[in-house]
Amino acid sequence: MKKLKLAIIPTGSCSGCDTSLVDAGETFVKALEYLDIVYWPIAMDLKVDSLLKAESIDILIVHGSIRTEEHEHLVKEAAKKAKYIVAYGSCTCFGGIPGLANLFFRDELLKKVYIETFSTVNPEEKIPGVTCEDERLKIPKLREWIHPLDEIVDVDLYVPGCPPPGEIVEKFLETIIAHAERGEPLPEKGTVLAGLKTVCDECPREKPDKIVVKKFVRISEAKEIDEKKCLLAQGIICMGPATRSGCDARCLKVNMPCRGCMGPSPEVVDMGAKLISMISSIVYADKEREVGEERLKKVVEEIVDPAGYFYRFTLPGSILGRTRRRRDKE
Ligand code: SF4
Ligand code: SF4
Ligand code: SF4
Repeated sequence: MKKLKLAIIPTGSCSGCDTSLVDAGETFVKALEYLDIVYWPIAMDLKVDSLLKAESIDILIVHGSIRTEEHEHLVKEAAKKAKYIVAYGSCTCFGGIPGLANLFFRDELLKKVYIETFSTVNPEEKIPGVTCEDERLKIPKLREWIHPLDEIVDVDLYVPGCPPPGEIVEKFLETIIAHAERGEPLPEKGTVLAGLKTVCDECPREKPDKIVVKKFVRISEAKEIDEKKCLLAQGIICMGPATRSGCDARCLKVNMPCRGCMGPSPEVVDMGAKLISMISSIVYADKEREVGEERLKKVVEEIVDPAGYFYRFTLPGSILGRTRRRRDKE
């Protein structure tokens, strides 16, 4: 049996994506029978050389955010010899949580982390890789912005989620097994391995015909939560209406709002814009005219960290994020 050569590159990753693969248990073990792993540093003692010297790669999985010049270099080199490229997890699909760093310029981030934080002692104000020539502190340079993987290389398959939910990981591994075992084709280029609807469509909570909200609260501030009722209708911001289905509304089932990790649903272009538009349509929806603009504005202004809420996983790939990068030096 000819095995498929697999490389897994973790870029700016928390390794939750690696764990999600191992969590698939028996399916993962079965998939290993058909795979020859040429690079997966989190699991095997293979160095970068193994990746760079590999003659070909059948399946390349990338997870994490493309943050440093080293990430970009490794991914581009591997992509040259990869037959099929998978963006695995929200960080590679859309930018993910690390992508919120794009709210700041790279130099602002470095200054904050290495000089300004309360607990940092750095009287010489040395910033590794920038103002410090010390070889021991040499680290890969940060790129100006975080990009989704498909802005760096061509992507064949998107496996979203932070990390991708168990059912989707199983499906992904079964697809690889079917390809190796029976020659079945891998999903066609551009496929998103997830649902075609929204999280709201999978959510078991009761949704009123018309949602009217007079005040938004964070889940931690809510005094009482009705476990059966739509959270948005209770004034708790939930990204379900703009988020792609496929996770079986797992957060809603444990009384947490959807944060949008599966990325935009097929008909949504920009998740943040969609939710902002939705929020504005439900605030005092029953007496919008009587209440007046100032009061409406106040309700919306009370939302803490709107960028973090509305673009938690998708800022780099969003219209807003792309426009900002174009405007403020690509
Ligand atoms: S998608 Fe989530 S789990 Fe995967 S690397 Fe990014 S932050 Fe970690
Ligand atoms: S808004 Fe959230 S809580 Fe309400 S139905 Fe949609 S997913 Fe469920
Ligand atoms: S409910 Fe939302 S945040 Fe939770 S796993 Fe599903 S898409 Fe992600």
